[in-house]
Amino acid sequence: MFRMVYRFAVKTYRLPLRSPLRTAHGVWAVREGLIIRLEAETGAVSYGEIAPLPQFGTETLAEALERCLGLSDKTDDAALDAVPAQFGCVRFALAMARAANPSVDKEKRLPVTALLPAGKAALAMLPGKLEQGFLSFKWKVGVNRPEEELGLLDDLLGRLPAYTRLRLDANGAWDRRTAEKWLARCAERPIEFIEQPAAPDDGDTLLGLAEDYPVTLALDESVTGLAAAREWQGRGWRGVFVIKPALAGPLDELAAWAKASQADLVLSSAIETALGRAAILRFAFAHDLTKRAVGFGVGEIFGERLWDGQIIGPLVDAGWSAAVDAEEIWNALN
Ligand code: MG
Repeated sequence: MFRMVYRFAVKTYRLPLRSPLRTAHGVWAVREGLIIRLEAETGAVSYGEIAPLPQFGTETLAEALERCLGLSDKTDDAALDAVPAQFGCVRFALAMARAANPSVDKEKRLPVTALLPAGKAALAMLPGKLEQGFLSFKWKVGVNRPEEELGLLDDLLGRLPAYTRLRLDANGAWDRRTAEKWLARCAERPIEFIEQPAAPDDGDTLLGLAEDYPVTLALDESVTGLAAAREWQGRGWRGVFVIKPALAGPLDELAAWAKASQADLVLSSAIETALGRAAILRFAFAHDLTKRAVGFGVGEIFGERLWDGQIIGPLVDAGWSAAVDAEEIWNALN
C-alpha cells in the first residue's frame, strides 16, 4: 500500500477567553492547545488542531505535546495511524489534517444554540440573544443552589417565546435527589433536554432517571470518546449524545458510528479555535451528522477574528468554514 510521507510540525497556542467561562467544573479563563502542520511530499500543506479537555477525560496538553514531539519531523501514515485510541484529541487533529475537504452544499444551514451563563446572568443576556434571532438556548445549571436556580428557570421560561427551545446543562453536578427534583419540575415544562444530570460514571442514576421521567436526557461528560458512547448504547441509553468532535477522534469514525447506530447527536464545542471548528462544521454538513442545534453558540470566545472565525449567529451555514484561513492561524504562532 502506498504510504504518504510528511513533514510534521507542531506549535502551541495560549488564548485568554474574552470572558471566563463559569461551569460546574469551575472557572475557565485560558484555552491552551496545539496546532499541527503536515506537509506532504507533493507539497500540499494541511493543518489540524489539538484542543484537550482533561476534565472531560481526554489526554492533557502535556501528554498531547509529548505525543506530537515523539513524531519525527519526517513521519508517515503508519506512524500517524499508530497513535493510540486514548489520544482522542491528537487523533482528531491528525485525521483532520489528512482528510480531503468534502464538497458541501453551501446553502445548508444548522441552528446554533446560544449559551446562557449560570445564574441570574442568563436573564440579562437573553434579550440580546432573542433580538439576534436565536432559536435555541442552553443554560448552565448546577452552579448555584438548586432552589435559586429552579426559581430562575421559570423566570427564564417566562421570557422565552414559544418558538424557542431551552436545554439545561448540569455538568454532572446534581446528586440523585436534586436531579429528581429538577426532572419532576421539567416534566411539565418545554425543555428540549437536560445534559448530564448526574455524575458521568453514575450509570445507575442516569439510566434510572431516563426511565423514571419523561424529560429527554443527554450524556456529555459521560461520552467523551466513541468507545464510551458505544458502551452506553449497549447499556440501553436511548437519549441524546452530546459529542465534542474535537475530543472524539477522527471525524469519519464519528460519522460511521452515528450512521450505524442512528444515535441522536448534538455537536458541541470544546472551545477549540476556528480552525478545529471549521473542520467539524464542514464535516457535519457533508455527512448530515445532526438535525439538532449545534453547541457552537459561544459567541466571541477569544475576542479576535483570527481565532474565533466570523461571528456565528443563530444559524451557521456550510460556507462558514471556507472563511477560516489555517495558514494565517499557523503563521500567527511562534
Ligand atoms: Mg455539557
